[in-house]
Amino acid sequence: MHDLSDPIISLNGLGPKAQEKLNAIGIYNLEHLLFHLPNRYQNKTNFTKLDQAQVGSEALLELTIDRIEEINTKQRQLLCYLSDEHNRTLVLRFFHFNQYQKQQLTRGDLIQCFGEIKIGRDGLEIHHPEYRLVSKGQSSLIEKTLSPIYPLTAGIHQPQMKKWINIALEALEKSTVIDNLQSLVKNSMPTLKQALNTLHHPKIDDDIEKIADFKHISQQRLIIEELCAQQLSLLKLKNERKSAISNIFKISNIFSDQLSKNLGFELTNAQQRSINDINTDLSSKHPMLRLLQGDVGSGKTIVAVFACLQAVENGFQTAIMAPTEILANQHFHGFSDYLKPLGIQVAFLTGSQTTSERNKQLALIRSGEAQVVIGTHALFQEAVEFKKLGFIVIDEQHKFGVHQRLSLTQKAHNTPHQLVMTATPIPRSLTMSAYADLDSSIIDELPPGRSPIKTVALANNKKDKVLEKIRQVCDQGNQVYWVCTLIEESEVLRAQSAIDTHLYLEENLADLSIVLIHGKMNKQEKNDIMVRFSCGDINVLVATTVIEVGVNVPNASLMVIENSERLGLAQLHQLRGRVGRGSDASICILMYQPPLSSNAIERLDILRQTNDGFKIANKDLELRGPGEILGTQQTGIANMKIANIVRDGYLLKQVNYYAAEFLQFDENRQQALIHRWITHDKAQYANT
Ligand code: ADP
Ligand code: MG
Repeated sequence: MHDLSDPIISLNGLGPKAQEKLNAIGIYNLEHLLFHLPNRYQNKTNFTKLDQAQVGSEALLELTIDRIEEINTKQRQLLCYLSDEHNRTLVLRFFHFNQYQKQQLTRGDLIQCFGEIKIGRDGLEIHHPEYRLVSKGQSSLIEKTLSPIYPLTAGIHQPQMKKWINIALEALEKSTVIDNLQSLVKNSMPTLKQALNTLHHPKIDDDIEKIADFKHISQQRLIIEELCAQQLSLLKLKNERKSAISNIFKISNIFSDQLSKNLGFELTNAQQRSINDINTDLSSKHPMLRLLQGDVGSGKTIVAVFACLQAVENGFQTAIMAPTEILANQHFHGFSDYLKPLGIQVAFLTGSQTTSERNKQLALIRSGEAQVVIGTHALFQEAVEFKKLGFIVIDEQHKFGVHQRLSLTQKAHNTPHQLVMTATPIPRSLTMSAYADLDSSIIDELPPGRSPIKTVALANNKKDKVLEKIRQVCDQGNQVYWVCTLIEESEVLRAQSAIDTHLYLEENLADLSIVLIHGKMNKQEKNDIMVRFSCGDINVLVATTVIEVGVNVPNASLMVIENSERLGLAQLHQLRGRVGRGSDASICILMYQPPLSSNAIERLDILRQTNDGFKIANKDLELRGPGEILGTQQTGIANMKIANIVRDGYLLKQVNYYAAEFLQFDENRQQALIHRWITHDKAQYANT
């Protein structure tokens, strides 16, 4: 008799090779087999009458064998002609068979057969049916419940998988499996045992359509449990953080008031609210880990500046980390503009600096003279030593791995406070699931006076129209971005396409200043070009997607994006956000190569219809799934066993409620839930 904790190797007929294959898909013991659910079912609960068999569907039939014929066309075939009591006929066709099989098929015998009904030259056929000759002592194909068809992995066959899972189901009957959720869901849902039995062997009157839609209550029961386990592991992380000790910042208004006076604009309510959230966190003794979300252009930078003023006034250094050189550079200038007038020292560190420049910056950081340090990944490196790091700002966190973020944390004095900014709004369902360990502030309004960006889609053969528009915009004194986007190609090819476009534009708009910027240029060149574009010296900037994030030139009012059909929604929205930053009406032209796929039409349409980054992010999640959006942040959300955040997002409210309840249970029960659903590696990751 088997136990659910038995390793799969203890199963009869399961050797080391099969073990390895099953391990690779996360199946180590019998309990894991229970959670390997069918992806569809076959109905062998009763016989279908031949006149009711539908072409294209599967049916179980019981018919009489009329004759057997072996034919030698291109490929040898065995045909078995069958009929029912009304002389309606059907042919079984075998492309692979042996003589023993042929001899067994005796004229006049009843045969049970199951398979997809096809239509052949002589009427109905089934190719390679599953069949039984009951008169020869073979067991009937009739089953009491629907028969599961399991997803397989190479080298494992359906009958094996069925047999092993059935043994696991027998063990489940006898076992006292820990039903983690039962005390919470009580009678509103089936028990774990019931849910698993139903999903492996549904009764004929169970709602199969609901199962196919993943909306059956037995599935919901398991989905909720899995999401709950994910949620719980993140909430535990959050609790751990909230019990750690950080530095208490005394909130002061001296620098903040000065900065407000220098700004030249009023903060929006949403910005003020976010600053208040942050100040509350900074003045508590526990480390802050706050996600600051806001659409492109909503003004996240200034919120971070206010936060770092508090660190400065409390004698702590701030590190600001950006994912690219261009963005780090932009932040360096942006932050310096605000901080230098207040007498605050800003250091800058990137991988491309000369050794002497770098040493100079390192010294400033080490001595504590630099109160704010801005940089790229270079900030993680071992040589970087802070005097008293107390606050970390991370821009676009999904571009960094968790380990990188942690290695910076370790350079700090006590656990530092952290502010994480995302350039792309995150769909609510992902914030609730993947980021449940973070607190969150949302900037949900744009600064006043922005005119919405008008977005149009134009086929590549309408380039004339685009040239006309460029001329018009430049005549008005505004500037243009032309983005070349060859994706999945090398940086060299990308640069080449930009070079070609640059030539084309120069030929056609000879009197304008058109300048090219791409990833193969050195940092100094890129920097110089960006400065010239910012001052208005350049009319048209032809760029590869290096300008995707952060760049802020309010006078630019036209954005042309090539090959827009090949880019993700979030990326297009991010690019488009480079215009519409001033008061002039802005336009974004999405160029595409017809014909468009229906998915591409849908994506371009949503961009034309809305400027709301949150709506766009939701659509992006729907179209591309969570893996793409979470990037290097491997939270396991993208790799769940049963749940799917897009499909099952509607259950998250319930899940949050149960997960919070679960936190009250004893540690062993919590760990049992987490370990059932989160494989060892991921659980370890969650504890780092
Ligand atoms: P993002 O959220 O995309 O990082 P930024 O922080 O770059 O946005 O801000 C975009 C632009 O809006 C900047 O030029 C900034 O100076 C300006 N800005 C920010 N807040 C306000 C405000 N409350 N009123 C007017 N302009 C603002
Ligand atoms: Mg920004």
